[in-house]
Amino acid sequence: MLNKQIVQSALQKIKEKHQEADNLAYTFFEKAMQNDEFKENFRQIKQAEMENAKAEVYGQPLAYDLPKLYSKQEKILNQIGIEPKAISPHYTCTKCDDTGYVNGLICSCLKHEINNILYEKSGLAKVRNNNFKSCDFNIFDDAQKTKKLYVLLENWCKKDNGYLNVLLIGKTGAGKTYLMQCMANKLIESESIVYFTSAFEMNQNLLKYHTTFDETKADNIALLLEPDYLFIDDLGTEPLLKNVTVEGMYNVISERMRNNKKTVISTNLSPKQIQDYYGDRVFSRLLCQTSSLVLNVENSDLRLKK
Ligand SMILES: [Zn+2]
Repeated sequence: MLNKQIVQSALQKIKEKHQEADNLAYTFFEKAMQNDEFKENFRQIKQAEMENAKAEVYGQPLAYDLPKLYSKQEKILNQIGIEPKAISPHYTCTKCDDTGYVNGLICSCLKHEINNILYEKSGLAKVRNNNFKSCDFNIFDDAQKTKKLYVLLENWCKKDNGYLNVLLIGKTGAGKTYLMQCMANKLIESESIVYFTSAFEMNQNLLKYHTTFDETKADNIALLLEPDYLFIDDLGTEPLLKNVTVEGMYNVISERMRNNKKTVISTNLSPKQIQDYYGDRVFSRLLCQTSSLVLNVENSDLRLKK
């Protein structure tokens, strides 16, 4: 389960919409019930619905003409100046009727609300405009190569192409963070749950996890494990904490890979430095040829002109 508080506050927003739709419909219904003709017809509709349902169960012919009663109701509502549709609730999400779940599975509207919260929390909200559509390649030294790289990564975001991890290697100023923001924004459009964090912040959460011994322990790393996509910016800039950083990093990456969840990492470190820093186990996970797409942004000469 994703961070409980986040799911709950997202669900709360959906439920509020549900309640609002119900309240609005009820206001119109109450108004209509003040009309005696409507009230009597409505009573007949309820009775007919019940009797017809019973008849259906016992395989008997339907005794009541429901369509006729419905059309009478519509006529009365029009006469008293109420839009017939207004007495039924109109939910924002037609897939789940603003309940957040469809057949026990999380609905896209709830994912959207969760993403809205994660958006604010991870600072992505401030870079909403950094996306593949608005990218100006002319600001890069080599527009053609940059474009190629962007197309490759945009396609990775669109398709399930086998690579679980993407590793962007390159010096500061190569545009790695910008590129990751474009990817994150693209994935959010496709209703995936996305969390964007820095290696520094991730390290702090791993430390909290390491030093928490009550029931909130797991909450510290839920956002690292559960989202469909995790972005870790600037790996290698965080302090290496004994028993925390390397172990935590290995566990997060392994757990995510086991659950088929994707991770995108940017780093200034060279592959050799990754191995020296984090050891063979992390190295083999992150630079595995079959599961990781490793791109050397540096070699593509993607430095920003300014
Ligand atoms: Zn929904």
